[in-house]
Amino acid sequence: MNYYSTNKQAPMASLQEAVVKGLASDKGLFMPVTIKPLPQEFYDTIDTLSFQEIAYRVADAFFGEDIPADILKEIVYDTLNFDVPLVQVTESIYSLELFHGPTLAFKDVGGRFMARLLGYFIKKEGQKDVNVLVATSGDTGSAVANGFLGVEGIHVYVLYPKGKVSEIQEKQFTTLGQNITALEIDGTFDDCQALVKSAFMDKELNEHLSLTSANSINVARFLPQAFYYFYAYAQLKRAGKADQLVVCVPSGNFGNITAGLFGKRMGLPVKRFIAANNRNDIFFQYLQTGQYNPRPSIATIANAMDVGDPSNFARVLDLYGASHEAITADVSGTTYTDEQIRDTVKETWEKHQYLLDPHGACGYRALEEGLQAGEIGVFLETAHPAKFLETVEAILGEKVEVPVKLQEFMKGEKQNLSMTKEFADFKNYLLAL
Ligand SMILES: *Cc1c(COP(=O)(O)O)cnc(C)c1O
Repeated sequence: MNYYSTNKQAPMASLQEAVVKGLASDKGLFMPVTIKPLPQEFYDTIDTLSFQEIAYRVADAFFGEDIPADILKEIVYDTLNFDVPLVQVTESIYSLELFHGPTLAFKDVGGRFMARLLGYFIKKEGQKDVNVLVATSGDTGSAVANGFLGVEGIHVYVLYPKGKVSEIQEKQFTTLGQNITALEIDGTFDDCQALVKSAFMDKELNEHLSLTSANSINVARFLPQAFYYFYAYAQLKRAGKADQLVVCVPSGNFGNITAGLFGKRMGLPVKRFIAANNRNDIFFQYLQTGQYNPRPSIATIANAMDVGDPSNFARVLDLYGASHEAITADVSGTTYTDEQIRDTVKETWEKHQYLLDPHGACGYRALEEGLQAGEIGVFLETAHPAKFLETVEAILGEKVEVPVKLQEFMKGEKQNLSMTKEFADFKNYLLAL
């Protein structure tokens, strides 16, 4: 299948080109030329299938033309070796727990899938080694680094702002070694992102090295995020509750929710979506006014959603032919302050004994406020609450249990390189590789 750019000024790309390049040459995002609907028979029997079986059917619609069936199946099954359970919180609200993977956040799904797909292309073509650059404010770096750990032919450079990620997050990408290098930048997350962007645009560097991005702009990380929407539907169908499904997604760069909208386009019976924002409510404002006004992000306690110019907005627009009316027919929005997020975490724990993380709390609250009679709501619980230990413990006023997987990371030895935020330093470092 071919991929076009949302800016429509770049030539079509093959899947391999789209994955290896990340971003189109006109700076647009890649989109598949067709989004294939899945047959009615699939939806009729979906409740009898496992997560891996469902994901393979979805993956086949996206990648089946380009990847041999046995290899695609292996990539999907190997990526999804953990469960994504649907947990009932209230009569009509369910949590889709996406945090049972290695780094306890939903980005594990896309990170692992992309690593395996890129690894396949490199091996098949005898292509030269690929360097993955990823700027992180915490969660992306750990999911991408753990996904790519030990994959031959790929080296990952994680750029993170000094002193601005939590200790748990830092340990998840600085203790791995092998093909993972952590670069501690004396600057902010925006400085890290600017370094990565400058590197992609630097002609000399790109002649010297094959560089790609593992942020959700990359189709190999973005599209697999559709898998679990289908599995959520299957689990509800099994319970006889899938008729009026509303899905709510805590959103920052809008990769996760856009993958869900792709699912709907493939025939998945979701009545409507809700995008839950923290105070970085650029998309919410767009829904109200039709005007898209990016602005600098502000820091909140749901920090993985602190995005002032969501990169996948271009894909949402493209999917709906830039029609505000069509977008608002499928998607509504909400926006919450830190105080509202704190109240929601606390109340949900006290009333329902369900512990939300600050991101999932936005999703839960949007359903609690917005579900209509007869509707069943599923929110995506995007990370384990223990990943935000200090915040969550302060809200509850009690200790939170830390899963063994996180404790293991804490034992590792931190290894990193320190660097200034000057592009010249970063470039010299890369040129010397
Ligand atoms: C990345 C992230 C989000 C936002 O996802 P997008 O695809 O960027 O919208 C939400 N919650 C958590 C915990 C995240 O790590």
